[in-house]
Amino acid sequence: MNITNISENILTQFLKSIPQYVWWKDIDSVFLGCNDNCARYIGLNSPKDIVGMSDFDIYDNKAEAESVRKMDQEIIRTGKSQLNFEECLTMPSVGKRWLSTSKIPLLDDDKNIIGTIGWFDDITEIKEMQIQMDAKNKALINYSLRLQETNRQLELVNIDLEKFTYAASHDLKSPIRILKGFATILKEKESANLAQESLEYLDFICDSTDRMGVLIDGILNLAKTGYTDLKSKMVDLEEIVRDKIKDLKANQGTRNINLDLPQDKIQAYPDLIGLVFYNLINNGIKYNESETPQVDCTYEEKKNSWVFSIKDNGIGIKEEYAAHIFEPFKRLNYKKIEGSGLGLSICKRIVNLHRGQIWVQPTPEGGSLFQFTISKNL
Ligand code: ADP
Repeated sequence: MNITNISENILTQFLKSIPQYVWWKDIDSVFLGCNDNCARYIGLNSPKDIVGMSDFDIYDNKAEAESVRKMDQEIIRTGKSQLNFEECLTMPSVGKRWLSTSKIPLLDDDKNIIGTIGWFDDITEIKEMQIQMDAKNKALINYSLRLQETNRQLELVNIDLEKFTYAASHDLKSPIRILKGFATILKEKESANLAQESLEYLDFICDSTDRMGVLIDGILNLAKTGYTDLKSKMVDLEEIVRDKIKDLKANQGTRNINLDLPQDKIQAYPDLIGLVFYNLINNGIKYNESETPQVDCTYEEKKNSWVFSIKDNGIGIKEEYAAHIFEPFKRLNYKKIEGSGLGLSICKRIVNLHRGQIWVQPTPEGGSLFQFTISKNL
């Protein structure tokens, strides 16, 4: 076997075994041959059947055949190869397919361009997956943009709502004070001239304005916890709590409030944290029928948080109500003891702002043990 025969042999073996589809055409883009793979792909019985065919015999669509031919002619004219480009073509044998194609000039022994050689891979599956993924990605991006916009609008509505609630409850306090003031003056100055029934009506007015005042204070405090421009800082917790409960202490009488709080400063929202202690200590005294009401505040330092405990010897809370009482306006003893039903929901909101949790459990002695955490990483 001479060298030419060996080369031909290698070429034939190579064309038979590579997975690509290979063809070659003359200068007028008429097929001169193809490998077995390519013949099968096009739907021909043998590679010989392609000889003499043109692109117009192979592709369903005239415009597609025209554009394939145009590129071949461009390669023949310029001598420049076109490698690894993607094209979508339709053939009767396989239907519409995505191909990754390369084309180079076909040269004679004197290096004159006498046609084109091309090969392609069928990348339809990969391409369709890519198209689907692109569509899903696009949908995901759209969805996330819509979500961002909705979030932004919600934030705006929230800020407006909180500012509105704060302003409204603040402004409501003044007419209530006036109402209470005049009812009291009327009662004091005119008690001699008024019938007993009218004096009772005035008492009703005073009681209702008091209740309304308590409710508005609750709403005002709740609205305060919604301000988004709050800044946490290092605070002296004991100083804040002592200041907050000084009125409770002043009316203390037989009450006993023991405070054991961190001596070092801790990170917290200074305008809010005192309110949690105030509400819990106040409740411990309010919901208490003991002769010597007692509230003990203690703490425990953990690696990433502080745990505070407020224990009272009061009337206690049944376990089945333990979760409900943190919801706004949930009251268990609303007839007997004055309150807005907002105190614990305010505590919960403030504790959550401090990235913490709050819960309650009965003590073995029949009182309540409120506990809450605040994060050290605010
Ligand atoms: P308020 O005291 O204004 O009613 P809170 O939100 O502070 O509102 O409390 C909700 C309810 O939980 C109270 O009405 C009361 O029934 C119950 N409660 C809260 N703290 C205690 C406590 N220390 N002991 C017993 N019951 C309590």
